[in-house]
Amino acid sequence: MSDETLSNLLHEERRFEPPAELAAHANLQAEAYDRAAADPEAFWAEQARRLDWAEEWTQVLDWSNPPFAKWFVGGRLNAAHNCVDRHVEAGRGDKVALHFVGEPLDPETSGTRDITYAELKDLVCQAANALTDLGVQAGDRVAIYMPMIPEAVVAMLACARIGAPHTVVFGGFSSDALASRLTDCQAKVVVTADGGYRRGTASALKPAVDEARTKTGPEHTVEKVLVVRRTGQEVDWDDAVDVWWHDTVEQASTEHEAQAFDAEHPLYVMYTSGTTGKPKGILHTTGGYLTGAAYTHWAVFDLKPDDVYWCTADIGWVTGHSYIVYGPLANGVTQVLYEGTPDSPERGRWWQIIEEKQVSIFYTAPTAIRSFMKQGREIPDRHDMSSLRILGSVGEPINPEAYVWYRHVVGGDRTPVVDTWWQTETGAIMISPLPGVTAGKPGSAMTAIPGISAEVVDDQGRPVPDGSGGLLVVTAPWPSMLRTIWGDDERYVDTYWSRFPATDERGAYYFAGDGAKKDSDGDLWVLGRVDDVMNVSGHRLSTTEIESALVSHPKVAEAAVVGAKDEDTGQAVCAFVILREEAGDGGADIVEELRNHVRKEIGPIAKPRQVMIVPELPKTRSGKIMRRLLRDVAEDREVGDVTTLADSSVMDLISSGLSKGA
Ligand code: ATP
Ligand code: MG
Repeated sequence: MSDETLSNLLHEERRFEPPAELAAHANLQAEAYDRAAADPEAFWAEQARRLDWAEEWTQVLDWSNPPFAKWFVGGRLNAAHNCVDRHVEAGRGDKVALHFVGEPLDPETSGTRDITYAELKDLVCQAANALTDLGVQAGDRVAIYMPMIPEAVVAMLACARIGAPHTVVFGGFSSDALASRLTDCQAKVVVTADGGYRRGTASALKPAVDEARTKTGPEHTVEKVLVVRRTGQEVDWDDAVDVWWHDTVEQASTEHEAQAFDAEHPLYVMYTSGTTGKPKGILHTTGGYLTGAAYTHWAVFDLKPDDVYWCTADIGWVTGHSYIVYGPLANGVTQVLYEGTPDSPERGRWWQIIEEKQVSIFYTAPTAIRSFMKQGREIPDRHDMSSLRILGSVGEPINPEAYVWYRHVVGGDRTPVVDTWWQTETGAIMISPLPGVTAGKPGSAMTAIPGISAEVVDDQGRPVPDGSGGLLVVTAPWPSMLRTIWGDDERYVDTYWSRFPATDERGAYYFAGDGAKKDSDGDLWVLGRVDDVMNVSGHRLSTTEIESALVSHPKVAEAAVVGAKDEDTGQAVCAFVILREEAGDGGADIVEELRNHVRKEIGPIAKPRQVMIVPELPKTRSGKIMRRLLRDVAEDREVGDVTTLADSSVMDLISSGLSKGA
């Protein structure tokens, strides 16, 4: 992005200082930035000591064969021991690990219960024994395709315990998506459930596993399917393959000796969201990953022993891996695990859970925040959420208006908001405010956290000056970095390391496709995917900035902007907008009003050629807007691949609404 990039965001003048009390007792203080920069390896060694190691490493980082990193070389540890056993051994076995809240309100079927660390340890040991009995050995892959129930967490930790890398596939995915992942990672066992609950009804999961097994074809590797009975619905059964959880895991011994694995032993393969194309199987290993997850969860959320933490992600995404399972449990936290959706059985469900469980740290996605903005503040206002002290955001850039609404309405203006930038590939949070140190700016992810080196560079890899935009890169290896793309080292090098190869002056930079801008203070604003940047009459415009301008209009809840081919300007700005409920249909002049609003907020060049009012936007299952599909609509093309779309009817809704309006 050139300096001509519009500087709307740089005009953001609101600042939110950390609360004095929080700042005084913050886990990390400002000095940590300099300390980490002066000696990153010593800093990371210090963070790795948060964990229990069966054998300490002999070398912090081996970067002799970039971009293939080895962290904590020679160290040995067990991830499940670190997430469970050691808390029990330290006398904290009675502490609640999971406040599980099942979706049905009926206590008979919901399974809602508290699980202590001691209970979790027994469950994980039982599952580890059962998986071993099913023939799973260290190195074998186990797929997990489950609803958000405690058994999903147990299954992940049991795999970690026996050194079998897991690959969790989001329970909302189709049998095709499951089949392609089973084939790609050659899974030996699938752990699933008969079904899960969604909006009050039981929906089946097991049939998709049965279908996927037939679809994997000749490369078929699945030997056993381990099934949790969750809903009690009918399932087809193949005695040669299927086994019930309650017949195996629940009958197994609670004694299991956790063996230590090499720090670089594979922990899991996680496929990316698929926002930009075909998902990539990202490999994370044990020691560095767990260090990164535990450290960032402790530092970025300023975790204290009495906190009640809740991350609303699904375990089918990396956020669920790092910030429900590995980070929080390694830190011995008490957390909420919720099976249901935000708005069922009523729209205030989340706020009710926060009130009831006294949640103090809450981590969610901008898409959820914007949907609550759309509904209006009366709903959260009905609940006492004074237990909250820190709010987090992840998944997309958070529009400044959504940030301020989140802080104000959900956080009662007391809570810092940490906007956390990271990716499946980075394993852990990379860029974020520190809640006790940073004066937050709405919409800015601020700076790389201590230990991480990030930069905004031009096409040649030179840092851009403050006040301009470019490509977001990580300039030094970090412990929780991906090690490769599963089974495809070449694609790993090509995808992430070939854009900025090493030069005489510097090593290679990691680049994974996001653009960013440095403001006049040098703080970072992530501008979204480089692929989404538009070129209008020679000006490079970021979709994020125009979307944020639209969301700052009081009638707008959500906006997605794309560049569509235009004969005069090269590309033209096309906006898709969801109105807030209180705005009704927005009035006859709403389109002009919004076009002019963007013009006023940013400048004439950014004024949308078209504004389309739509009921919904196409999103991935993890809630990210899929702009490439909107580009197809704006350019009047047939809509592309929709397999990772959360709701495939959304595109029809948009197209039919538009043709009616036209
Ligand atoms: P794919 O790589 O398959 O297209 P994806 O990039 O959506 O999918 P994830 O790894 O789940 O898969 O998402 C990481 C991306 O999400 C980042 O590269 C960035 O574009 C976006 N993102 C995440 N957090 C933030 C944030 N706090 N601010 C801005 N963007 C964010
Ligand atoms: Mg990505």
